Amino acid sequence: MTGHCSMCKLTKPRSEFHKNQSTCKPCHVLRQRQYRRTIRGFLDQKYTAMSKRVRGKDSRCAHIMNGMDIISRSSFIEWAYEQPTLKRLFRQYKQSNWDFKICPTVDRIDPTRGYTFDNMRFITQSENAKHRWDNGTIQSMVDGYKNSFAYCRSRKV
Ligand SMILES: [Zn+2]
Repeated sequence: MTGHCSMCKLTKPRSEFHKNQSTCKPCHVLRQRQYRRTIRGFLDQKYTAMSKRVRGKDSRCAHIMNGMDIISRSSFIEWAYEQPTLKRLFRQYKQSNWDFKICPTVDRIDPTRGYTFDNMRFITQSENAKHRWDNGTIQSMVDGYKNSFAYCRSRKV
């Protein structure tokens, strides 16, 4: 069984394609990367990651972020397009040839709260890492661990 790739126009074995994809695997990767390099694709990817965090699906922060508020995908994208900082940061990111250190990220101003209009702003990846150390996030992580220890003790587990 073979398939025809709509991007590179080559005929390849079906195993070279993901299920239900009209582009071969290498072209699919390329196309996804191109999409992430548009503001729309970038925001889409951001939202997917944010939504995973508040659903406790990101093991790095599941214990602190699970159950936090999040606005809808369309509200997030609408809000993001209105942020002048996003346009500026995204332009810098592009000019740096996609250096991850200056990748724009969504910062939660109050780290104990979720992704709501009044609690989000765009900053760069390295600013975000610094902010995380500066403000109460470490404290809230420590508190989170203390609470789960206390819970385990009280349940004798
Ligand atoms: Zn292809």
